[in-house]
Amino acid sequence: MDKLNALYQGKAKTAWETSDPDRVIMEFRNDTSAFDGGKTASLERKGLINSAVDSFVMQHLEAAGVPTHFERRIDANHVLVKRLQMLPVECVVRNRASGSLCRRLGVEEGAELNPPVFELFLKDDALHDPMITQSHCVTFGWASAEQLAEMEALTHQVNDVLKPLFLDAGMILVDYKLEFGLFNGQMVLGDEFSPDGCRLWDAQTHRKLDKDVFRQDLGDLVESYQEVAHRLGVELP
Ligand code: 5GP
Repeated sequence: MDKLNALYQGKAKTAWETSDPDRVIMEFRNDTSAFDGGKTASLERKGLINSAVDSFVMQHLEAAGVPTHFERRIDANHVLVKRLQMLPVECVVRNRASGSLCRRLGVEEGAELNPPVFELFLKDDALHDPMITQSHCVTFGWASAEQLAEMEALTHQVNDVLKPLFLDAGMILVDYKLEFGLFNGQMVLGDEFSPDGCRLWDAQTHRKLDKDVFRQDLGDLVESYQEVAHRLGVELP
């Protein structure tokens, strides 16, 4: 399937129209950004590693009964996905305290969160993705109460599937962000699941293996992502 017009260019991915109105090609680029685009870099191999990890995770979720947009991997940097009508809401689950939760609530980094925390953010770069509640979503029409209930249930289901997957590979799934969309009226997991949108720590040492390596200048991001892929048993070209 060929790439036609670019539908959307995000900070790390581009979505391309195809000859099938219901299918989109997602390109994982090497572009890396943090702090609302305040820090950027182009990192060789990052796109293909994220594409490989995303494909692996999405297939694992699909096999476990989570509806995802994933159809098939096309080549190193490209994946064919269903074209969803995306909801402008980011769903975050936190198993351990880190990042903005620590800044907002003064919780110590690494504290275990039981039950895991579920949060909603508005996907809006200009507003810096503010935290929102169900009430905002319903009042402003970003998602209905029923859709939110479905998104929350699926986000927790993803946690039940991925926590053990990562732990078996020697990593703690600290937190992650998911985005959902509708396909023929069905709520489906879209966007991506890669170390760009989650936090992963070494299970023993708590060494960071995700985008915090870039955010906090902790070392070589591509080496860390390669280690995540390697630990999961994901083959890289
Ligand atoms: P925090 O709210 O602590 O900054 O982020 C919580 C989790 O969601 C982290 O794993 C972070 O990487 C992910 N996340 C939050 N917002 C975004 C975003 O706009 N883009 C990406 N790729 N990940 C995000």
